[in-house]
Amino acid sequence: MTRLTAAIMVRDLEQALADATRAAEFGADLVELRIDGFTDPDGVGRLLQEAPLPSILTCRPTWEGGEYAGGEAERLSLLEQAVQGVRAPTYLDLELAAWEQAPAEMRERLTEALETAGTGLILSAHDFEHRPRDLLSRIAKMAEVGPCRVIKLAWRARSLRDNLEAFEILGQQYKPTIALCMGRFGLPSRALAKKFGALLSFASIDEASGTAPGQPTLDEIKKLYRWDRLGADTRVYGVIGWPVGHSMSPAVHNRGFDESGYDGVYLPMPIPPEYEHFKATVGSWLAMEELGFGGASVTIPHKENLLRFVREQGGEIEPLAARIGAANTLTKRTDGTLFASNTDYAAALDAVCDALSIEREKLAGKAVAVVGAGGAARAVVAGFAAYGGRVTVYNRTRAKAEALAAEFGGESGSVAAAGLEALPGASFEVLINCTPIGMHPEVEASPVDGEGLPDWGPGTVVFDTIYNPLETKLLRQAKAAGCLTVPGTEMFVRQAAAQFELWTGQTAPLEAFRGVLRERLGAGG
Ligand code: NAP
Repeated sequence: MTRLTAAIMVRDLEQALADATRAAEFGADLVELRIDGFTDPDGVGRLLQEAPLPSILTCRPTWEGGEYAGGEAERLSLLEQAVQGVRAPTYLDLELAAWEQAPAEMRERLTEALETAGTGLILSAHDFEHRPRDLLSRIAKMAEVGPCRVIKLAWRARSLRDNLEAFEILGQQYKPTIALCMGRFGLPSRALAKKFGALLSFASIDEASGTAPGQPTLDEIKKLYRWDRLGADTRVYGVIGWPVGHSMSPAVHNRGFDESGYDGVYLPMPIPPEYEHFKATVGSWLAMEELGFGGASVTIPHKENLLRFVREQGGEIEPLAARIGAANTLTKRTDGTLFASNTDYAAALDAVCDALSIEREKLAGKAVAVVGAGGAARAVVAGFAAYGGRVTVYNRTRAKAEALAAEFGGESGSVAAAGLEALPGASFEVLINCTPIGMHPEVEASPVDGEGLPDWGPGTVVFDTIYNPLETKLLRQAKAAGCLTVPGTEMFVRQAAAQFELWTGQTAPLEAFRGVLRERLGAGG
């Protein structure tokens, strides 16, 4: 059973005990007491005695990334003494290099103290720069040390691919093993340690108190990344982008898995912008069977890369995604084939159709004004034109509106172009804002702030794709005129819902998704 371990940097006894108590409340199984800067033997003895959870004792020297700057003989004596105390730690963490360099007599004394106390020796190796060249030989050395009960490896990941090596190491455990990647790419190794049967994974009490780069908080790993539900068969999903740290998708999809009982977990997947990074990372994640990587949401700047990748892999591409030239969803089907699709346009269509209480087919002939001619407008125009809408694109740069109209007009629906100044006084049944006008912090701006208001009223649907703020000035203006309004959260929620349904085969819990967005965007539960 993989134990969730709270890493605590000990500054003083009270702080460390208070942190350990919080760790127990969060549901941690163990605490790692990092006594690098707290080396009073009596204090350490009391800390071990009073800690509310079983412990790992670690005094990390500066030469291995810690804060202890004293002599090695003193450090080893302190650890020996701590192990001989009234309450010994469950594990003692010692660096492989320290073990190898310690005098034989010291090693014998420590081994005896550990055996007498029943404390397990973790031999560890850390690299804060990159993957050490001799990673595998370090494992072999640790495996050969008789008193070593646990092998621990931690290195800074250069990309998401490094996590796969950590999983492979966990797959061939000579002894109970901890294999973790540090830094911005290392989260999967920490969040999925339980799936791969690691002895433990570390998390911090809060964002300010981590002991290694990239360590998640206990709250994140427990609640957001579904620690208690993870097992060997858990399917893995994620949001691919650069950057992805701000994404609300992990909170939305993991809540969906919670609600539906689906055995999945959804992680942020940062991949640098170039196609080669996308191809190498996604290719290797898909190739590792044991990972169970089932698909991903794909956002800026990889939406075109996804189409290229799936095309190269001989997968299927949704025809409208191909026409739009961008896909936001990767699905690995049960037969192993890949499918790239675009759930953005479908989300916009369904949000408007629900507001009008009609089926998509009934959009034929409806006058739809789309404001903007960028990426979001492209998906929206393609979708409404495909269902026969009479679309007019209003854009600041008229030439871009004309280009979009030329590209998507003509088949089933018609698409015309106009400058943004033509919007006041325009006539339509549906208005969709696909510009950032009115987005936080410019919340007092609106695309219809110019001379006069459009010809709108009861029966008109006004949909703003902006979701921060939840209610934009455009939506307030539209409400005042009696229009039906649709907030941008509906597009976000529905594109996520369509992904959820592709991956799980289950109906998405839309109301739970909406609740996550309300929590995240500050409008309460
Ligand atoms: P984009 O490709 O950069 O396009 C932005 C469009 O807005 C362009 O047509 C641009 O006009 C116009 N624009 C920008 N600033 C303007 C201003 N001050 N005055 C007039 N026009 C302006 O961006 P995008 O990816 O399409 O995203 C646009 C918006 O859609 C985002 O801000 C976001 O709020 C929203 N969105 C929402 C969702 C969702 O799930 N709810 C998803 C995607 C996007 P020019 O051509 O003249 O530069």
